[in-house]
Amino acid sequence: MSVTLDWLGCATFCLTVDNLVIFLDAYMDRVPAAPPVGLTTAEVQRADYILVGHSHFDHLWGAERIARNTGATIIGSHETTRLMVNEEVPEEQLIFSAGGDRIQLSDRVSVRVYPSQHSCIWAGMGPPDQACLGDLGVSWQERQASLRTRAGSRASDRPGMAEVQAHRAACTQHPRGEGGALAYLIETPYGSIFWKDTSGHWSGILRDLRPDVALLAAAGRGNIDGEPIQGTLGQFMAREVDLLRPRRVVLSHHDNWMPPTTRGPEATAAAVGEELGRQFPHIELLEMGYSEGYPILQGIR
Ligand SMILES: [Zn+2]
Repeated sequence: MSVTLDWLGCATFCLTVDNLVIFLDAYMDRVPAAPPVGLTTAEVQRADYILVGHSHFDHLWGAERIARNTGATIIGSHETTRLMVNEEVPEEQLIFSAGGDRIQLSDRVSVRVYPSQHSCIWAGMGPPDQACLGDLGVSWQERQASLRTRAGSRASDRPGMAEVQAHRAACTQHPRGEGGALAYLIETPYGSIFWKDTSGHWSGILRDLRPDVALLAAAGRGNIDGEPIQGTLGQFMAREVDLLRPRRVVLSHHDNWMPPTTRGPEATAAAVGEELGRQFPHIELLEMGYSEGYPILQGIR
């Protein structure tokens, strides 16, 4: 068996199953102040598939370059597909799904696609160990208004913000919101890996899945069935682990991917680790560094 997992920052991973190379998201080319992840999209030599969790730039941007350079097939939402067509990725390299599909990636590996939820970026949130309450029953219109207010209030004169704005201008692909978030269950002869690139879910979907490993985004205000978590990020992550019951958990999206708007992973890892350790002491929480080539399914069965 040869199954390795490289974390490439934010919620991007590269999973290699024998000879099959699967990217999970494609955002590696970050602002200069962000720590390098060990690989740029221009350096990707081989990719067979790119699974995209949702259409925001910090997940999708880069997929078009990897697809063009390697011939990889992109799997994503209808919105992701629309944006990739705009980027002149050939139609034959695009597979769209709204969830409910099982897609064969090789003779021995397939992926199941599920509808998911994005984190509540329109809602109030604090540090990862702080409980957030309220913001329930907010309409679509009120959520959009809140997003506009939050975008307008970002201080542009802080050191590093000019680079952030230039970066965002370069990688914007004009998505309609997040384009519909998806979750993926990759099934291999050696075990299964669940991946989701934002902190939200439909609990009725997660509760019936039993992956060996769960790669879970730990960022922002968690979204449970369309409403914000009433509690901490650690409690949200514990809910996801409780629904999925994996043997092993890997966190993502908690690194310093766009300073100065983001911070290092330490505070989130500590807060989530404490909650998971308290509730699920038998589940292994892996603290992964970038580009480690970790044997992610070793010892799982
Ligand atoms: Zn997003």
